[in-house]
Amino acid sequence: MSLDTNDLIRLEVNYRGIFQKTLAKHISTDVVYVAHSEGKTAFSNGRYSDDPQRNGVPCANFAYISKSLSEEDLEAEASAAMDIKEAELVIVLDDTMVKGLEPWGHYGIRPINEKVISGGTILFVSSRTPAELSKLFERKSFSYRIATIRGEASFSGLWYFRDDMTDVRVLGAIAKLNPGIASIESVLSYVKSKYKSDQKVEAARTAFEEVTVAEVTPEEGIVWPYPKPVLPGWKEFEEGTVVRAVKRGFSLGPRGQNRNTDFKRGTNRTQRPVVRFDICTKCTLCWASCPDEAFDPTKEGYYDVNYEYCTGCGRCADVCPVDDCIVMVNEMNLTSNESFYNQYLKNPSSYVEEIESIKGKERTIPEHITGKGNIVKRVEKPKAFKEVR
Ligand code: SF4
Ligand code: SF4
Repeated sequence: MSLDTNDLIRLEVNYRGIFQKTLAKHISTDVVYVAHSEGKTAFSNGRYSDDPQRNGVPCANFAYISKSLSEEDLEAEASAAMDIKEAELVIVLDDTMVKGLEPWGHYGIRPINEKVISGGTILFVSSRTPAELSKLFERKSFSYRIATIRGEASFSGLWYFRDDMTDVRVLGAIAKLNPGIASIESVLSYVKSKYKSDQKVEAARTAFEEVTVAEVTPEEGIVWPYPKPVLPGWKEFEEGTVVRAVKRGFSLGPRGQNRNTDFKRGTNRTQRPVVRFDICTKCTLCWASCPDEAFDPTKEGYYDVNYEYCTGCGRCADVCPVDDCIVMVNEMNLTSNESFYNQYLKNPSSYVEEIESIKGKERTIPEHITGKGNIVKRVEKPKAFKEVR
């Protein structure tokens, strides 16, 4: 006998592996507790393929809420699958994921709005407007909603939880966007009993009141530029654990660096390094320190980042001895993974002018101890272009 799942609500929480793991866990399990407090059946789990998590890798937790299903039936319906196909509410804790997700390694890049259904909602924690974000969505054949609560992506590390109230703010927004999950009264009473903090209750209430919502129509968005991932069925898996060897090779660029082409990591990134080749001293430190071998040595002796492989860890910017030579820039400020180096060779001064405008005046430098947030420095005057002879 098939189950009547008409009142089932599915929630997907997209987050960056390690840095937002605890935050996402708080949200998906808190939703379950709040729904329980209203007498509903609820259950949460995570996408098994993302373990072990790597820094920045796109991951997802899920929550399922129903008024009519029993606990056993809900678990039978929801717990066996490694992923979900559709969701009434999709939450995105880092807005740079709007450029695509690669949670299944080399199987391909998926759109962030893939799961949202007709009439459903996708919620971002972002300081960008809904229109700025939805123009990067894959175009769909139906209308749905985009919502935002203001804020930058909240990051911490493996052993830390950055308690900046993003978790309770998201809970407040959930109550507004899908009251079938839980009412705002239940959310506020849960937050009060869990944290005993009026400040947290107020943060959840403010998010409920201030969440911005807009409609996404079928004309909006882009035709998805990447092939859609096709995952093997369980009968197609090879026996045992198979780790493909990297093809041996000895070329070191340009663009010939010997890498595992099955393991590109560009969608792990929230920031990317941008290099001022005109002031680079060719010291090799960035190339030697990059944990992902993302730098291609060029014929002229510079080191060019291959953005398909760079995970945005920031180490190169940290070790570069030349002030403002490698700067980490928010991923949303750039649209493609193309190398800048050819542009630099063709017209060095216009390259410098363009990347300085992309970089802006603020420099965001990660703290060495994760969970402490970023240091933001302001640069009033960028370094002048230096002619290389
Ligand atoms: S940020 Fe720099 S060090 Fe880190 S992966 Fe990218 S190129 Fe390598
Ligand atoms: S670390 Fe900085 S100065 Fe040294 S090669 Fe890399 S970009 Fe150039």
